[in-house]
Amino acid sequence: MIKKLLTLLLSAILLMPTISVFAEEIDTNQVTVPIILYHAIEENYPDEISNLAITSKLFEEHMQALLKHGYTTISFQEYMDFKFNNAKLPEKPIIIAFDDGYLSNYTKAYPILLKYRMKATIFIVASTVGKQYPEVNYAHFTWDQARTMINSGLIEIGSHTYYHNDVSQYSSEKANLDLRLSKYLIDTNLGFNCKLLAFPYGLFTEENQQQALEAGYTLSCKVGDVGVNTKDTPITELKRLTIFGTYTSENVINYINVQTERELEGWYN
Ligand SMILES: [Zn+2]
Repeated sequence: MIKKLLTLLLSAILLMPTISVFAEEIDTNQVTVPIILYHAIEENYPDEISNLAITSKLFEEHMQALLKHGYTTISFQEYMDFKFNNAKLPEKPIIIAFDDGYLSNYTKAYPILLKYRMKATIFIVASTVGKQYPEVNYAHFTWDQARTMINSGLIEIGSHTYYHNDVSQYSSEKANLDLRLSKYLIDTNLGFNCKLLAFPYGLFTEENQQQALEAGYTLSCKVGDVGVNTKDTPITELKRLTIFGTYTSENVINYINVQTERELEGWYN
Protein backbone atom coordinates (compact mmCIF):
# COMPACT_ATOMS: atom_id res chain seq x y z
CA MET A 1 0.00 0.00 0.00
CA ILE A 2 2.74 2.46 1.03
CA LYS A 3 4.72 1.48 -2.02
CA LYS A 4 1.70 2.16 -4.18
CA LEU A 5 1.23 5.60 -2.59
CA LEU A 6 4.91 6.39 -3.04
CA THR A 7 4.72 5.43 -6.70
CA LEU A 8 1.68 7.66 -7.14
CA LEU A 9 3.40 10.54 -5.39
CA LEU A 10 6.53 10.08 -7.47
CA SER A 11 4.64 10.06 -10.73
CA ALA A 12 2.71 13.17 -9.63
CA ILE A 13 6.00 14.96 -8.95
CA LEU A 14 7.42 13.84 -12.26
CA LEU A 15 4.37 15.10 -14.09
CA MET A 16 4.36 18.50 -12.39
CA PRO A 17 6.83 20.38 -14.60
CA THR A 18 4.97 19.25 -17.71
CA ILE A 19 1.67 20.43 -16.28
CA SER A 20 2.98 23.85 -15.28
CA VAL A 21 4.64 24.47 -18.66
CA PHE A 22 1.41 23.52 -20.37
CA ALA A 23 -0.60 25.79 -18.06
CA GLU A 24 1.73 28.68 -18.86
CA GLU A 25 1.32 28.13 -22.55
CA ILE A 26 -2.46 28.33 -22.52
CA ASP A 27 -2.84 31.18 -20.03
CA THR A 28 -3.63 33.84 -22.61
CA ASN A 29 -4.75 36.26 -19.87
CA GLN A 30 -1.12 36.82 -19.06
CA VAL A 31 -0.24 37.76 -22.65
CA THR A 32 0.42 41.48 -22.95
CA VAL A 33 0.73 43.44 -26.16
CA PRO A 34 2.33 46.87 -25.82
CA ILE A 35 1.73 49.28 -28.69
CA ILE A 36 4.39 51.96 -29.04
CA LEU A 37 3.59 55.06 -31.04
CA TYR A 38 5.92 57.16 -33.17
CA HIS A 39 5.28 60.10 -35.48
CA ALA A 40 7.87 61.69 -37.81
CA ILE A 41 11.55 60.82 -38.20
CA GLU A 42 13.61 64.02 -38.39
CA GLU A 43 17.36 64.54 -38.25
CA ASN A 44 17.31 68.12 -36.99
CA TYR A 45 15.70 67.22 -33.74
CA PRO A 46 15.41 68.95 -31.31
CA ASP A 47 15.97 72.31 -32.99
CA GLU A 48 13.25 72.53 -35.56
CA ILE A 49 10.50 70.13 -34.65
CA SER A 50 8.41 68.92 -31.79
CA ASN A 51 9.58 66.20 -29.43
CA LEU A 52 7.13 63.82 -31.09
CA ALA A 53 9.72 63.35 -33.84
CA ILE A 54 12.82 61.21 -33.47
CA THR A 55 16.12 60.99 -35.37
CA SER A 56 16.65 57.93 -37.56
CA LYS A 57 19.73 57.01 -35.51
CA LEU A 58 17.73 56.92 -32.28
CA PHE A 59 14.82 55.14 -33.94
CA GLU A 60 17.22 52.42 -35.13
CA GLU A 61 18.63 52.13 -31.61
CA HIS A 62 15.09 51.66 -30.26
CA MET A 63 14.46 48.88 -32.79
CA GLN A 64 17.74 47.16 -31.90
CA ALA A 65 16.87 47.39 -28.18
CA LEU A 66 13.46 45.77 -28.76
CA LEU A 67 15.11 42.88 -30.61
CA LYS A 68 17.83 42.54 -27.97
CA HIS A 69 15.16 42.28 -25.27
CA GLY A 70 13.36 39.50 -27.12
CA TYR A 71 10.41 41.40 -28.58
CA THR A 72 8.80 40.27 -31.83
CA THR A 73 6.77 42.81 -33.78
CA ILE A 74 3.26 41.77 -34.78
CA SER A 75 0.54 43.37 -36.89
CA PHE A 76 -2.86 44.48 -35.61
CA GLN A 77 -4.28 41.65 -37.73
CA GLU A 78 -2.26 39.17 -35.68
CA TYR A 79 -3.54 40.76 -32.48
CA MET A 80 -7.13 40.41 -33.76
CA ASP A 81 -6.49 36.76 -34.70
CA PHE A 82 -5.22 36.20 -31.16
CA LYS A 83 -8.17 38.01 -29.59
CA PHE A 84 -10.97 36.55 -31.68
CA ASN A 85 -9.62 33.24 -33.04
CA ASN A 86 -7.22 32.15 -30.29
CA ALA A 87 -4.27 32.31 -32.66
CA LYS A 88 -0.87 32.08 -31.01
CA LEU A 89 1.38 35.06 -30.60
CA PRO A 90 5.18 35.07 -30.33
CA GLU A 91 6.58 35.12 -26.81
CA LYS A 92 7.04 38.89 -26.38
CA PRO A 93 4.74 40.50 -28.93
CA ILE A 94 4.82 44.23 -29.58
CA ILE A 95 3.08 46.51 -32.07
CA ILE A 96 4.88 49.49 -33.56
CA ALA A 97 2.52 52.24 -34.74
CA PHE A 98 3.04 55.55 -36.52
CA ASP A 99 0.45 58.32 -36.73
CA ASP A 100 -0.16 60.88 -39.49
CA GLY A 101 1.59 59.22 -42.48
CA TYR A 102 4.69 61.41 -42.79
CA LEU A 103 7.00 60.97 -45.78
CA SER A 104 9.83 60.26 -43.33
CA ASN A 105 8.01 57.05 -42.32
CA TYR A 106 8.68 55.87 -45.87
CA THR A 107 12.13 57.39 -46.47
CA LYS A 108 13.66 56.80 -43.03
CA ALA A 109 11.71 54.40 -40.80
CA TYR A 110 10.73 51.89 -43.49
CA PRO A 111 14.36 51.09 -44.57
CA ILE A 112 15.24 50.41 -40.92
CA LEU A 113 12.17 48.19 -40.46
CA LEU A 114 13.10 46.33 -43.66
CA LYS A 115 16.68 45.87 -42.46
CA TYR A 116 15.53 44.12 -39.28
CA ARG A 117 12.37 42.57 -40.81
CA MET A 118 10.20 44.33 -38.24
CA LYS A 119 6.48 45.03 -38.68
CA ALA A 120 4.71 48.35 -38.19
CA THR A 121 1.31 49.95 -38.73
CA ILE A 122 0.93 53.47 -40.10
CA PHE A 123 -2.31 55.40 -39.48
CA ILE A 124 -2.67 57.87 -42.32
CA VAL A 125 -4.66 61.08 -42.65
CA ALA A 126 -6.46 60.53 -45.93
CA SER A 127 -6.69 64.23 -46.88
CA THR A 128 -2.90 64.75 -46.64
CA VAL A 129 -1.62 61.69 -48.52
CA GLY A 130 1.15 62.85 -50.91
CA LYS A 131 0.93 66.48 -49.76
CA GLN A 132 4.13 68.55 -49.50
CA TYR A 133 5.17 71.74 -47.74
CA PRO A 134 3.74 74.44 -47.74
CA GLU A 135 0.37 72.75 -48.11
CA VAL A 136 1.22 70.85 -44.93
CA ASN A 137 3.97 71.46 -42.39
CA TYR A 138 5.66 68.12 -43.06
CA ALA A 139 5.54 66.11 -46.27
CA HIS A 140 3.41 62.97 -46.33
CA PHE A 141 4.00 59.80 -48.34
CA THR A 142 1.97 59.03 -51.48
CA TRP A 143 -0.47 56.20 -52.20
CA ASP A 144 2.25 54.58 -54.37
CA GLN A 145 4.70 54.66 -51.50
CA ALA A 146 2.03 53.20 -49.21
CA ARG A 147 1.53 50.36 -51.70
CA THR A 148 5.29 49.68 -51.82
CA MET A 149 5.37 49.39 -48.04
CA ILE A 150 2.31 47.12 -47.89
CA ASN A 151 3.83 44.86 -50.56
CA SER A 152 6.83 44.23 -48.30
CA GLY A 153 4.48 42.28 -46.03
CA LEU A 154 5.76 44.26 -43.05
CA ILE A 155 3.58 47.36 -43.11
CA GLU A 156 -0.14 47.71 -42.41
CA ILE A 157 -2.06 50.89 -43.12
CA GLY A 158 -4.85 52.18 -40.91
CA SER A 159 -7.02 55.30 -40.94
CA HIS A 160 -6.27 58.39 -38.87
CA THR A 161 -9.48 59.95 -40.29
CA TYR A 162 -9.82 62.32 -43.23
CA TYR A 163 -9.50 65.74 -41.58
CA HIS A 164 -7.25 64.98 -38.58
CA ASN A 165 -9.30 66.98 -36.14
CA ASP A 166 -11.10 66.40 -32.87
CA VAL A 167 -13.91 64.13 -34.09
CA SER A 168 -15.76 64.40 -30.78
CA GLN A 169 -16.58 68.05 -31.60
CA TYR A 170 -18.12 67.24 -34.97
CA SER A 171 -21.81 66.89 -35.75
CA SER A 172 -22.93 63.29 -36.34
CA GLU A 173 -22.94 63.91 -40.09
CA LYS A 174 -19.44 65.35 -40.22
CA ALA A 175 -18.02 62.62 -37.96
CA ASN A 176 -19.55 60.03 -40.26
CA LEU A 177 -18.04 61.72 -43.30
CA ASP A 178 -14.62 61.93 -41.62
CA LEU A 179 -14.63 58.23 -40.77
CA ARG A 180 -16.20 56.96 -43.99
CA LEU A 181 -14.32 59.13 -46.50
CA SER A 182 -10.94 58.14 -45.09
CA LYS A 183 -11.90 54.46 -45.18
CA TYR A 184 -13.22 54.78 -48.73
CA LEU A 185 -10.01 56.46 -49.96
CA ILE A 186 -7.78 53.87 -48.29
CA ASP A 187 -9.88 50.94 -49.53
CA THR A 188 -10.01 52.19 -53.13
CA ASN A 189 -6.41 53.44 -53.39
CA LEU A 190 -4.77 50.54 -51.63
CA GLY A 191 -7.13 47.74 -52.58
CA PHE A 192 -8.04 46.23 -49.24
CA ASN A 193 -10.69 46.54 -46.57
CA CYS A 194 -9.28 48.91 -43.95
CA LYS A 195 -10.33 47.82 -40.47
CA LEU A 196 -7.93 49.86 -38.34
CA LEU A 197 -8.63 53.31 -36.96
CA ALA A 198 -6.82 55.73 -34.67
CA PHE A 199 -8.82 58.78 -33.59
CA PRO A 200 -6.75 62.01 -33.80
CA TYR A 201 -5.53 63.10 -30.35
CA GLY A 202 -7.37 60.09 -28.96
CA LEU A 203 -10.55 62.16 -28.76
CA PHE A 204 -13.88 60.49 -29.45
CA THR A 205 -17.33 59.94 -28.01
CA GLU A 206 -19.23 56.69 -27.55
CA GLU A 207 -21.29 57.67 -30.58
CA ASN A 208 -18.06 58.06 -32.62
CA GLN A 209 -17.02 54.54 -31.59
CA GLN A 210 -20.36 53.21 -32.78
CA GLN A 211 -20.09 55.19 -36.02
CA ALA A 212 -16.64 53.73 -36.62
CA LEU A 213 -17.98 50.19 -36.24
CA GLU A 214 -20.86 50.96 -38.59
CA ALA A 215 -18.42 52.46 -41.12
CA GLY A 216 -16.62 49.10 -41.21
CA TYR A 217 -13.71 49.53 -38.83
CA THR A 218 -13.15 46.62 -36.45
CA LEU A 219 -10.53 48.10 -34.17
CA SER A 220 -9.62 51.53 -32.91
CA CYS A 221 -6.77 52.94 -30.88
CA LYS A 222 -6.48 55.66 -28.34
CA VAL A 223 -3.41 57.81 -27.77
CA GLY A 224 -1.50 59.18 -24.81
CA ASP A 225 -2.52 56.27 -22.63
CA VAL A 226 -0.96 54.29 -19.93
CA GLY A 227 -0.97 50.53 -19.87
CA VAL A 228 -0.59 47.80 -22.41
CA ASN A 229 -3.17 45.56 -24.09
CA THR A 230 -4.33 42.11 -23.12
CA LYS A 231 -6.83 39.77 -24.68
CA ASP A 232 -9.56 41.57 -22.70
CA THR A 233 -8.77 45.15 -23.71
CA PRO A 234 -11.85 46.54 -25.53
CA ILE A 235 -11.15 46.38 -29.26
CA THR A 236 -12.25 49.99 -29.73
CA GLU A 237 -10.02 51.29 -26.95
CA LEU A 238 -6.56 49.90 -27.54
CA LYS A 239 -3.88 51.66 -25.54
CA ARG A 240 -0.77 53.12 -27.12
CA LEU A 241 2.38 54.36 -25.42
CA THR A 242 3.69 57.52 -27.08
CA ILE A 243 7.44 57.48 -27.63
CA PHE A 244 9.15 60.86 -27.66
CA GLY A 245 12.34 61.78 -29.50
CA THR A 246 13.99 62.40 -26.14
CA TYR A 247 13.68 58.76 -25.01
CA THR A 248 16.82 56.64 -24.97
CA SER A 249 16.55 52.93 -25.80
CA GLU A 250 16.77 52.23 -22.08
CA ASN A 251 13.87 54.63 -21.40
CA VAL A 252 11.73 52.81 -23.97
CA ILE A 253 12.42 49.34 -22.57
CA ASN A 254 11.81 50.56 -19.01
CA TYR A 255 8.61 52.31 -20.02
CA ILE A 256 7.26 49.15 -21.62
CA ASN A 257 8.33 47.01 -18.65
CA VAL A 258 6.75 49.29 -16.06
CA GLN A 259 3.49 49.61 -18.01
CA THR A 260 3.34 45.84 -18.52
CA GLU A 261 3.88 45.15 -14.82
CA ARG A 262 1.22 47.67 -13.83
CA GLU A 263 -1.25 46.24 -16.33
CA LEU A 264 -0.74 42.74 -14.95
CA GLU A 265 -1.07 44.03 -11.39
CA GLY A 266 -4.44 45.55 -12.30
CA TRP A 267 -3.46 49.21 -11.82
CA TYR A 268 -5.54 50.34 -14.74
CA ASN A 269 -8.67 48.24 -14.17
ZN1 LIG B 1 -2.24 62.56 -35.44
